[in-house]
Amino acid sequence: MYEWMKNVRQVEPYVPGEQPKDSSVIKLNTNENPYPPSPKVINRKLELEKLRVYSDPEASKLVSALADYHGLDKSQVFVGVGSDDVLAMSFMTFFNSDRPILFPDITYSFYDVWAELLRIPYEKKALDESFSIVPEDYFGENGGIVFPNPNAPTCIYMPLDGVRKILDNNRDVVVIVDEAYIDYAGESALSLIDEYDNLLVVRTFSKSRSMAGLRIGYAMGDSELISALNNVKFSFNSYTMNYLQIELGVCSVEDDGYFREMIDKVKNTREWFCKELVRLGFSFPESATNFVFAAHDRVPAKDLFEAAKNEKIYLRYFNKPRIDNYLRITIGTDEEMKKLVEFFEKYILTY
Ligand SMILES: *Cc1c(COP(=O)(O)O)cnc(C)c1O
Repeated sequence: MYEWMKNVRQVEPYVPGEQPKDSSVIKLNTNENPYPPSPKVINRKLELEKLRVYSDPEASKLVSALADYHGLDKSQVFVGVGSDDVLAMSFMTFFNSDRPILFPDITYSFYDVWAELLRIPYEKKALDESFSIVPEDYFGENGGIVFPNPNAPTCIYMPLDGVRKILDNNRDVVVIVDEAYIDYAGESALSLIDEYDNLLVVRTFSKSRSMAGLRIGYAMGDSELISALNNVKFSFNSYTMNYLQIELGVCSVEDDGYFREMIDKVKNTREWFCKELVRLGFSFPESATNFVFAAHDRVPAKDLFEAAKNEKIYLRYFNKPRIDNYLRITIGTDEEMKKLVEFFEKYILTY
């Protein structure tokens, strides 16, 4: 025990899904997109000599592209190094009250890590038995609210009237809707930002845009929210977005046709795969995401998870209360999902 240790900030870090070095693994454990980024991104000629200089601290080109795409003003868009960075910045900026912030008990497991790290008091609100968010649970006094819609890892989408209920009962705190998976779901809360100046909608390029490795996320909301975020960002690190993120991010936004095509492909595979899961004896909430959250009626999730791993099929398993009999399965290509179904068939039959 060194003396300095008593001054160290103690945190229990978030544990991301495994990134195996072996490329023969069928990787269905971190909700990446099985398809490559847009050909426009892949074929973009880069001028890497530009790396000599600092990048544009405002990332204006990317901010403008996103603002145009969503029909917003540039002052309503903030970009960061993946939505994890945008969310962490948002926690730091908006959750500065003595009252606890609220989020679901089963949700993206980074939320309590940031709250702990930043010493933000928090309270978790239990999902109901069907794993749905109960809007009324968020009506009391609080220091802010954050939830993913669709929620992760439950894959359930809350229709906008639920989001609206939460907003109507929380006009004095910032409400963050983490829309990492919205492209696979229903209507976005983006349509509400003109009505609610306290609503921040956060998106990522990591899932539906197939660019998890590049690290781009963004937030949209009232220009006062965005300006507050920028003040914190510029107090922390001016050059969060580099030349590659800015240029390739713009290319992705400009290829809407490819983007929509890949979303449909994943949704079609999801539809087929869910039917197979039913046939195999799994039950699961209706998925509004690029993953399924499923439990088998006889075989424990942990056993399925470990056996799949031995067959080089990686799934995600959370050893946590209420969800320890569920597997989170990312939708891969048709071929990958067929291999998984074949594995399940064999394993379950002989279990
Ligand atoms: C994947 C994910 C994120 C983070 O994505 P980034 O890669 O950091 O953009 C944020 N929230 C939820 C709910 C996610 O599933």
